[in-house]
Amino acid sequence: MELIFLKPVFKQMIWGGSRLKSVFGYDIPGDNTGECWAISAHPNGDCEIAEGRYAGKTLSWLWKEHRELFGGLPGDRFPLLVKIIDAKADLSIQVHPDDSYAAEHENGSLGKTECWYILDAPENGSIIIGHNAASKAEVRSMIEGRKWDAFIREVPVKAGDFFQINPGCVHAIKGGTLILETQQNSDITYRVYDYDRLQDGKPRQLHIQQSIDVITAPFEPADPVRKTRKEQDAETETLVTCSCYKVEKTVLHGRMSFRSDASFTDLSVLEGAGTIAGHAVRKGTHLIIPSGFGEVPIEGNMMFITSCPG
Ligand code: ZN
Repeated sequence: MELIFLKPVFKQMIWGGSRLKSVFGYDIPGDNTGECWAISAHPNGDCEIAEGRYAGKTLSWLWKEHRELFGGLPGDRFPLLVKIIDAKADLSIQVHPDDSYAAEHENGSLGKTECWYILDAPENGSIIIGHNAASKAEVRSMIEGRKWDAFIREVPVKAGDFFQINPGCVHAIKGGTLILETQQNSDITYRVYDYDRLQDGKPRQLHIQQSIDVITAPFEPADPVRKTRKEQDAETETLVTCSCYKVEKTVLHGRMSFRSDASFTDLSVLEGAGTIAGHAVRKGTHLIIPSGFGEVPIEGNMMFITSCPG
């Protein structure tokens, strides 16, 4: 049994920056790199296995050919996608469909439930979660009337905050925010408003009708209850448990023995360094603990976030 270490895929975006290099040390393709697809088997960014007997193969290949590593889970695609997002500028105001809308309108794609752990945010930083329209009719009239200030709901944000974004929830990451995002394996985004920005001289496509179709009204905040437990030298906090995933944050100063009965566990080291089952890891290392690996000895001073399918 081997841990599965992954090579990230990088995405340049009009709103991207260079902190994936300055903070994580990645070799990024340019100073507008917005996303690191750290654990992904999506066709738009399929991670390569970095070492071991499957080195050079992709995660989607591993999912297809060695389902036993994922506890024999059913399904035609690896269920999760883990990203680090560096927003130098504001992301578009957007919304994602649920599985049934995506299946019907997006060639059988999954919908997108996502969640954000805030790694860094500017002083007085904010993000957009939800809207102020009372009904679907008001959603339509506020969007068509471009009443953005009245429509969007902006909330303060600081490092360590966590947000669950259900399908149908209007949201936007604002400039200066660095985020670890755990989401369903989907790349379907409906752009409601893009601040009238241009990319290569043209506005990016908006998806007004799809957005109005899928936005939930009135907005209902999803405020997961965060629960902390202590084991050995580690403190682990459950950030969210939902039908798509369970996401936990662990702060370790010393040693621990990581156990999980999940079909597999994604693990992203986000601060510090140490060893995992004897492999040196540091901030920016991403790996999958396969099914049946057993207890994983972890040592060092680090913070990591794990996810497993819901
Ligand atoms: Zn999103």
